[in-house]
Amino acid sequence: MTTERKYTFSWSTIGDQLAIARPSLGATTRVEVYRLLQYTLRDILEEDYGHQKTDEIFRRAGAVAGREFFNKFCTDVEDIPGLVMVIENKFRDLGMGLFRVESINLEDLCFTLNVEEDLDCSGLPDTNEQICVYDEGFIQGILESFTGKKFEVREIDCWCTGARTCRFSANAVG
Ligand SMILES: [Zn+2]
Repeated sequence: MTTERKYTFSWSTIGDQLAIARPSLGATTRVEVYRLLQYTLRDILEEDYGHQKTDEIFRRAGAVAGREFFNKFCTDVEDIPGLVMVIENKFRDLGMGLFRVESINLEDLCFTLNVEEDLDCSGLPDTNEQICVYDEGFIQGILESFTGKKFEVREIDCWCTGARTCRFSANAVG
């Protein structure tokens, strides 16, 4: 595998001058456009790498996003309740979904988390598959950044499995 790169993520590559960049259209677009990008990318990645590897790539990308989300919005946070509050507010403000904590075990660092109206899957047809692997990575990236521990995050219910809300278990590992 080549390690040659011409890009690594940073917020500056996204740009923050949207008032100048899009004076008429502004900073928002439609959910369809976000999903068009995500699901065409998934189509091609699955074609080349298969389902499992594609899930892994999306999960890893999600973890980068979660880490960067943490670095941008959560560095002043002092404890888990403070972290939860910032995530709830930012997810809502950015139109990513309605984030809620269902249960927390602080001793073992085990969480059950919900995201309603999820950006990736809310309203999609039932497929009997948990499809929010990018979100799994996203939550993993945030929790790992905050705690300094490794986390495994898995979606346990998804809109696409008929649950109408996405539920995630997040457990510190190792
Ligand atoms: Zn889902």
